Amino acid sequence: MRAAEPFRIKMVEPIRLISREEREKALENAGYNPFSLRAEDVYIDLLTDSGTGAMSDYQWAGIMMGDESYAGSRNYYNLAQSVKDIIGYNYTIPTHQGRGAEQVLFPLLIKKGQYILGNMHFDTTKAHIELAGGRAVNFVIEKAFDTTTPFDFKGNFDIEKMEAFIKEKGVENIGFILMTITCNSAGGQPVSMANLREVSAVGKKYGIRVFIDAARFAENAYFIKQREKGYENTTIVDIIKEQFSYAEGFTMSAKKDALVNIGGILGIKDDEELFAKARSMTVPMEGFPTYGGLAGRDMEALARGLREGADEDYLRYRIEQVAYLGRRLMEGGVPIQTPTGGHAVFVDAKKMLPHIPGDQFPAQSLANELYLEAGVRAVEIGSFLLGRDPETGLQCESPMELLRLTIPRRTYTNSHMDVVADALIAIKDRANALKGYEFTYEPAILRHFTARLKPIE
Ligand SMILES: *Cc1c(COP(=O)(O)O)cnc(C)c1O
Repeated sequence: MRAAEPFRIKMVEPIRLISREEREKALENAGYNPFSLRAEDVYIDLLTDSGTGAMSDYQWAGIMMGDESYAGSRNYYNLAQSVKDIIGYNYTIPTHQGRGAEQVLFPLLIKKGQYILGNMHFDTTKAHIELAGGRAVNFVIEKAFDTTTPFDFKGNFDIEKMEAFIKEKGVENIGFILMTITCNSAGGQPVSMANLREVSAVGKKYGIRVFIDAARFAENAYFIKQREKGYENTTIVDIIKEQFSYAEGFTMSAKKDALVNIGGILGIKDDEELFAKARSMTVPMEGFPTYGGLAGRDMEALARGLREGADEDYLRYRIEQVAYLGRRLMEGGVPIQTPTGGHAVFVDAKKMLPHIPGDQFPAQSLANELYLEAGVRAVEIGSFLLGRDPETGLQCESPMELLRLTIPRRTYTNSHMDVVADALIAIKDRANALKGYEFTYEPAILRHFTARLKPIE
C-alpha cells in the first residue's frame, strides 16, 4: 500500500504565487540570482532543506518548556539523553548549528598541513578544515559522478584510493577521517554500512581517528534498511547506533534530520579527554557547554526532533516524497541523477541544455526559468557555484551542471511536487530557447550568494 503523509496539518502558513509580470520584475531586481530573491516572492522554496522543515506539535509544546538557566538547563539533559538513546554516545555539546561544532572540534584534531580524508566534504566543513590549517581531500567513488547509472550507495568511499593516499603521504600527515552521511555534496547519496565498517577498519589499521559529519544520519540509516542485505529487519535506531559505532565522535547540523530550524551537536562517544578539551573550546566559541549557542527551548525542540527524525514511518514518507518528484520528472523526460538521494532531486542541466556551455551556467539558466514559470526557487550546483581557479583566475569547469530541488521536511505536499514537475516538464519542451548568463557583478569570494547576472542575448 502507498503510504501518505504520516501527519495531518493543524497550522498553515499561506504562500502565494505572484503574477508572471511580478516574477519577471523580481528576478531582474535579484540580478538573475535566485539567492537574492525575497522569500515572499517565492511560491515553492526548494533552495535548501537546512532549517526549513516543519516542527511537530510535540516539538512546539517543548518550546514552551524551555528552561533558560545559564548552566545545567533541564533541556540540556533531555538532549543528552536523546543522543544517548538514539546514537549511543556519552558526551553531548550543543552548538548553534553544524559549523559551530566544526569550529570547536577541528582545531583540536588538526596539525598544520595535515590532510583530512572524506568521501566528499561539505563546503563549510572544508572551510573549517582549512581555517584549522588542514587540507580537505575527497575519496568518494567514481560512480558518484555518473548521474545515469544507478548504484545503491553512491556516497561510498573508494577505500583502495584512500589507503594508497595514506601510504603515499604517511600516517603522520593525516589529521583524521570524516565520513559524511548521507553524502550531501554527492547528491544526498547514502554510504553503506559495509563501507562505514571498512573505513573504520582502515582507521584502526593506521591509527587514524574517524569522525562522522552526521547531518543526514537518519536518511542514511533508512537507505541502509531499504538497500543493504542483512538490515531488512533491523530497527532504524539500531542501524543509526551501528553507523555511529564506527566513529569516535560526530559534528551534526541539527537543521536537517534532527528536524529543527536552528541547532547543532558535537557528540563524543567515550573519549573523556577529547570531551574535556572540546568543552573548554566551546566556551569562547559557542557558549557555556550546557547551552552552546542555543536557548533552552531550542535544545528541547532538538531533543524531541532527534527522536522524531529516527521514526521509520516519517523516514519512509520523507524518502518517498523525494522519490515521487524524481519519478514524475523521469516520466516526463527530464534528466535527473538516479537513484534519487535523501533530500533533493538533481536535474542534469548539461543534458537538458546542451547548447549552453558551462561558463554560461546552464543550471542557473534553468533555475531562473523555473522561477519565471512557476515561482519555484531551486539552486545551481555547477560552474556558477564552483567559481574561478584562485591562481589563474579562469572559470573552473564543473564536471556536472546540476539544478538542485531541495525538499524541506514535512513542509510541502505532493501537490507542490506536481507543480514543480509540471513546470520542469513544460520547460523541457522549449529548452533550446533558454539563454546562457554572464556577470554584471562578480564578488571575489563565495560569489554565488551575491553575484548579479544578465542573460546573453
Ligand atoms: C548543513 C551541513 C553542514 C553545516 O551545518 P550548518 O548547520 O549549516 O552550519 C555540514 N555538513 C553537512 C553534510 C551539511 O549538510
